[in-house]
Amino acid sequence: MNTNAKLLLITIDGPAGAGKTTASKILAERLGYKYIDTGALYRGVAYEAKKSNISSDDDAGLEKLCATLSLEFVRSEKGLRLFSNKSDITDEIRTPEMSMLASAVSARMVVRKYLLFQQKELGKGKGAVFEGRDMGTVVFPMADVKFYLDASVKTRAKRRYKELAGKKDSPALEQIENDIKHRDENDKNRKLAPLKAAEDAIIIDSTELDIDAVVKHMISCIQNLLS
Ligand code: C5P
Repeated sequence: MNTNAKLLLITIDGPAGAGKTTASKILAERLGYKYIDTGALYRGVAYEAKKSNISSDDDAGLEKLCATLSLEFVRSEKGLRLFSNKSDITDEIRTPEMSMLASAVSARMVVRKYLLFQQKELGKGKGAVFEGRDMGTVVFPMADVKFYLDASVKTRAKRRYKELAGKKDSPALEQIENDIKHRDENDKNRKLAPLKAAEDAIIIDSTELDIDAVVKHMISCIQNLLS
């Protein structure tokens, strides 16, 4: 890719298991951009809340937690790592329990307000691919390019199943499908920043597409904006 090309801010929103993470990482790598996984931030808050015995509907407790929290992305040989108050929590936040807890805390105003600020700070300077649920609608409504990546529930569940297979306590496919449905329901129907495509988003259905085809399509959509 042309390294003198214009720097863009690209957002990729969509439900769990649609392929956002892989597509965002590859796209960012091809463009020489930074990649930000905003779901990890919600997972980080969920992880710390659990550790401190703060329930997901305890707004005062969550507010206090956010006031002392320090979530930081660090790029290392092992990829993008999330540190919370200087300890690496990247692996701990990737459990089915943390997925559900992240979805619950993400519906709270105090948490969204705290992370909105963090995400805007990370977006300064452009040259970035942001992945999440409300990147194109709330956090970066002025993004240069917005994608909304979707796929059928069955396909998303199968992908997650393959990802988790072999890990300790990996859930059955049926359990994963139920969790995904539940999370979709929470994320799409919450009052604050619900999961939806921005009006000007390019919608891609990856049910029948592999990741290479998704990224190829994304690059073809942004090619003319790069020079
Ligand atoms: O993307 P990931 O599955 O890691 O996100 C975990 C949860 O965090 C989502 O189910 C969603 O509830 C929340 N989230 C959000 N807004 C974002 C990113 C994630 O509400 N921008």
